[in-house]
Formats: sequence, C-alpha cells, structure tokens
Amino acid sequence: MPPELQQPFFLAATTLVGLMVGSFLNVAIHRLPLEGQSVGNPRRSRCPKCGHALSWYENIPVLSWILLRARCSGCKTPISMRYPLVELLTAGLWYLAASRLPLEDWDLIAVHILVLSGLIVATFVDFDCFEIPDEISKGGMWLAPVLSLAVPSLHNSTLIAQRMSSNWEPGLPVDRLGALFGCLAGMAVGGGILIAVGWIGSKLYGRDAMGFGDVKLLAAGGGFIGPGGALAAMMLGSVVASVAGLGNMLRFYFLSRSRTKKRGVQKSRAASVRLARIVGRYIPFGPYLGIGIGIVLLAWNDVRQLIQWSH
Ligand SMILES: [Zn+2]
Repeated sequence: MPPELQQPFFLAATTLVGLMVGSFLNVAIHRLPLEGQSVGNPRRSRCPKCGHALSWYENIPVLSWILLRARCSGCKTPISMRYPLVELLTAGLWYLAASRLPLEDWDLIAVHILVLSGLIVATFVDFDCFEIPDEISKGGMWLAPVLSLAVPSLHNSTLIAQRMSSNWEPGLPVDRLGALFGCLAGMAVGGGILIAVGWIGSKLYGRDAMGFGDVKLLAAGGGFIGPGGALAAMMLGSVVASVAGLGNMLRFYFLSRSRTKKRGVQKSRAASVRLARIVGRYIPFGPYLGIGIGIVLLAWNDVRQLIQWSH
C-alpha cells in the first residue's frame, strides 16, 4: 500500500470495527447488570419482548435499525434509538483515538480504544441502574498496571513516571518501572480523592454522597491517566455533572408545572421548586467521571495547558 494511503485506510478500518464493537457494547450494557447472563450467553440477541432471534441482517450496526424502521420485525415493539447511538458513539471515539496519534503508536491507540469502550459500557449501565459493573471498574483496576507495563508510553506525560524512570530527560519516553509507578500513583489518587470527597460529603450532609462504584471507576481510570490526570478528570466530571444536575432539576420543575396545569391542581411554584430540587438531584456520577477520564485520555496535553499545570 502506498504510504500516503496508510493513515486514511487505518482510520477507515478502525472506525468500521468501532461500529461493530459498538453493537457488542450494546449487548454488554444490556446484559452485564442481569443475573445469569453473560456477554456471550445466550449466543444470539433476541427481542426482549417476543423472543424473536435476530438474524444477521437485523444485526448490522445502525443500518438495521434504519431498515427495520426502529421496530422489531417479530412484534413491532419500538427499538430504542440508543442502540444506533451507542454504535455511532463507539465508532466516533475510536476514530478520535486513532486520529490523534501517529500510526507507529498503534499499541497506545489500542489501549485508549479499550479504555474508551469500557467507559461507554460503564456510563450507560450507570444511567440505567445507578451502578457501575465490577467487570469494568475492577477489571480496569487489574488491567491498568498490566497495560502500563506492556505499553509504558501510556504514562509518557505522567510526572511521577518521568521521575521514577532511570536516566529520564525531557522528550524521552518513560520506562516500564516508571510507568508502573505512574499507574499505581494514579490509582491511589483517583480512588483516594473520591473516598475523601465522600467522607467530607457524609460529614456535611449526613448521607453517602459517593458510591463505591465511582471510587473504583476513578481508581481504574487513574491507572491509565496518572495522578494529575485523575484529579483533572474528577474536576471536569464535576463541572459537567453540575450542569447536567441543574438541567435535570429544571426538567423536573417544568414536568411538575405542566402536570399542575393539566390536572388543574393548585400547586405553588415553591412546591415545584422543592420537588425538583429533591428528585432532580439524583443523577449518577459515573457517566460524568467517564466523560472526564475520556477527555483527559484523548487530550491530556490540551487539558493541562487549559488548567495551566504546564511547566
Ligand atoms: Zn419482538
């Protein structure tokens, strides 16, 4: 293949595989929270309503959803738009991961792609069940040190990894031992800050503000993005979560107002505000942590300049 075609071919292939893996992630999102089912069992996907087994042409990412007009061919139950969206999101993130690094860094690209895919699953399961599956969080905590040893360049811009590498100089890659230190420090800081935030929250509000699933998720993420990255991911995640929380409260406020109007019940604005504040507050934190980790993973250098930690 002519060298000028290698990059476009690689990007196209990565995006296409990402689209197919997105289809597989949909299965994982659906099945991981369920008892007795695994990603490979049962082998064929079925309509949850009528049990109709999907044939190959009903299983093509995005395309099948459009061709079936978003309905099961057996019972006409609507198929959620989320299936093609997860497929497109996966393909898009795989494309981004592959396009931000040179082809020679294929091993680093592969790790980024793996982490991003895990974050997609964690995000949507958390939205559905307010729970992050251990397969992702604990699995990530096991994988992070292993992959840091295998692909030390994961921690090339982690300060501790640079310090702990022998004979490291600016511009040089870190060595395996340095990368392992960067990974372990990242896991400790990632898990540690959320435990601290949760402890402070419970002292302030007298309730558990932080789920342990979030602690494990940021510990795992920190193993891939280092301690500074984990801190930045938590801050980014908190900002996005605050905006989402505010949006959610507004949604409940307007829902309550429109219901009041429809039923003719007299409910004061203050009561609607109170309701929105109580109900709207409950949003999962995992998805926003996931967004933070993903941003740092793909754009650490940009993020660092943004928060002026560059030296
Ligand atoms: Zn059906």
